[in-house]
Amino acid sequence: MCSSSECPVTSIPAFNLTEQYRRIGAELETATAKVLASGGYIGGQTVADFEAAFAAAMGVTEAVGCNSGTDALHLALRALDIGPGDEVITSPFTFFASAEAISLAGATPVLVDIEPQFFNLDYRQIEAAITPRTKAIIPVHLFGHPAAMSEIMAIARAHNLRVIEDCAQATGATWQGQPVGSFGDCGCFSFYPTKNLGACGDGGLVTTKNPEVADRLRSLRQHGMRVRYYHDEIGLNSRLDALQAVILSIKLRYLDEWNQQRQAIAQRYGEAIAAIPGLVAPSVHADAVHVWHQYTVRVQACGDRSRCVSHPCDRQGLCRDWLQQQLQAQGIGSMIYYPVPVHLQQAYSQLGYKTGDFPEAERAAQEVLSLPMFPELNEDDQARVITALKDLAIAAVQS
Ligand SMILES: *Cc1c(COP(=O)(O)O)cnc(C)c1O
Repeated sequence: MCSSSECPVTSIPAFNLTEQYRRIGAELETATAKVLASGGYIGGQTVADFEAAFAAAMGVTEAVGCNSGTDALHLALRALDIGPGDEVITSPFTFFASAEAISLAGATPVLVDIEPQFFNLDYRQIEAAITPRTKAIIPVHLFGHPAAMSEIMAIARAHNLRVIEDCAQATGATWQGQPVGSFGDCGCFSFYPTKNLGACGDGGLVTTKNPEVADRLRSLRQHGMRVRYYHDEIGLNSRLDALQAVILSIKLRYLDEWNQQRQAIAQRYGEAIAAIPGLVAPSVHADAVHVWHQYTVRVQACGDRSRCVSHPCDRQGLCRDWLQQQLQAQGIGSMIYYPVPVHLQQAYSQLGYKTGDFPEAERAAQEVLSLPMFPELNEDDQARVITALKDLAIAAVQS
């Protein structure tokens, strides 16, 4: 053992998958070896078993695996007959794919600002964005916090709109006790490795309670084909493979435990951050069970921007970026999800949005910082993150 002053300072990454592998690696290797030896790599019982287990866990009757979360959104839009000429409402403060999938389906994304407390689509602003072309709403359960599904479903019913939930960051989260992905016409999940339920590669899945939609999804993921080599429509090649499915079946058994570990970590962060000037801890809606895909604070140490210029922030007064650099210098990883809102992305310049259109999304993009968060983050490492934040926040205010 080294005494604290001589210990090599190990870094604390924003996320880490090797600890999880250390714990369940043997189980994964046994199961994947069986699939490798079986010779059945696409489709088959392994995939069907995972789909059934996932549907049961999410409180739905149908689950259709596919290649990625992006494809899940794209397939859901296609299966609900949404395409060219249609408008789909979503959030400007999300991972790009929420909007990109709308464009891939040939429809047009229409953005509605977020509410600042939970970073999710502001349901009070949805109705003003509805036009005769509007066909669907894609609420995003960002960072693992469910969107206000009761209100969003009521708006959708009143205007006869479809709802496709982007559950990529929220596997296991609930709203009023009901799992996300079971409210809308479809729920779209991503199994990207760092998501709450992650594969060892890409993967995704669509949930639905409608057997006809499920049938269409199964056809679309396989070249629009129901009977082999007879194609009903243009589809995609977007299947979940058997190796990923067997890995996901095993990991699904740990999902609740991992989400609980994330909740315990979030609880400790929350208590500590409440006492740190300039940092705003994320809040949880009374109707929500949050699964903390990210623990995302707002950095407002320079709420007084005039003061910010004179201390070690950059010229725009972005203390957040200074804080991130200082943490990095101490070996503490953090991430900015997301630095540029969807409406200001180069790829969407043709939509005609400009700076100022969605002030809360823009403010969030300037203020957010996601701290290390993964189930295996231990208390000592977390304490180090908290101490560093405290010291830096005090240093920033004093300089
Ligand atoms: C990860 C993610 C996606 C896309 O999932 P992939 O599996 O990476 O294609 C979509 N939406 C959100 C909000 C995400 O976080």
